[in-house]
Amino acid sequence: MKQSPTTIFRPDLLRGRVALVTGGGTGIGLGIAASLAAAGAEVAIASRKSEHLEPAAEQLRGSGGKVSTVEVNVREPESVRRMVDQVSQQHGRLDILVNNAAGNFYAPTATLSPNGWRAVVETDLYGTFYCCQAAHPVMKAQNGGRIISISMTLHYRGWPLMAHATAAKAGVDALTRTLALEWARDRITVNAVAPGPIPTEGVKQAFTPPGADAPDLFGMEQYGADSIPLGRWGKPEDIGQMVTYLASPAGDWITGAIMVVDGGAWLGSGAVPSGRVGSGPAGRPGDENL
Ligand code: NAP
Repeated sequence: MKQSPTTIFRPDLLRGRVALVTGGGTGIGLGIAASLAAAGAEVAIASRKSEHLEPAAEQLRGSGGKVSTVEVNVREPESVRRMVDQVSQQHGRLDILVNNAAGNFYAPTATLSPNGWRAVVETDLYGTFYCCQAAHPVMKAQNGGRIISISMTLHYRGWPLMAHATAAKAGVDALTRTLALEWARDRITVNAVAPGPIPTEGVKQAFTPPGADAPDLFGMEQYGADSIPLGRWGKPEDIGQMVTYLASPAGDWITGAIMVVDGGAWLGSGAVPSGRVGSGPAGRPGDENL
């Protein structure tokens, strides 16, 4: 794979390793797939829609990645088992599973329908469980593997209109810690990465004023500058690099960890905007005297 300007890892770091990224055709999942491929892994990207998978695979192959696609609905355990069989047969093994597929939408809890609740909890939590369980025997037989689930930070304090997603991701964190203990003797590490705000399509929709067909880019920029201590929105590659680190030999002794990658966003939420306090990169010169 051609070295991308944003890649900080050696291009042969994960050579010989096979990674499976659910939801790998869009947004953060595509950033994760690109980072793993740039570090030399063979990558399978999986989701429901070929119109998401095929252009993403072409993009990754265009940069030299060895990439395959597989259609899956992570809400269905049979479909997940077929995905794992297909990937391990096609690539000969499965070393790294990234549980990134998820669904989300804003909804007042008082009127959230049982179907809406079920759709999100089944995708985010049940889907993660089905994928972990399907990958376990393959990884155990290979004498080890890496499982990395993409969580969030919104459940650390609670987030109105997201009861379904916050409950599901709290479950993902609990599953991560429990499987880390249960599968350590199988030499499978189980970790999670909790991204902060990253302007993928869903987030842009949240910043699109009612009736408009494009997000309020100025408002988004202001939000990044004022609300995130490190002064910018996240990028898919911020998450991809953490996943690659955990998947690499650097992650050999890390299990049960939930790595927050959010520019300080959740820790700083509710605090004075970062530009108004302190010195250093996040502050303005002289602000420390305010
Ligand atoms: P996204 O682009 O909407 O990604 C979701 C992916 O999941 C899509 O590729 C979708 O592809 C796939 N998917 C959805 N339902 C599926 C199902 N039933 N079976 C298989 N695949 C399914 O959103 P994103 O922002 O990149 O989110 C990626 C991850 O980061 C999620 O776990 C999310 O919770 C987490 N996260 C995001 C942010 C953020 O600010 N963006 C912050 C914190 C955490 P198909 O439609 O083709 O199935």
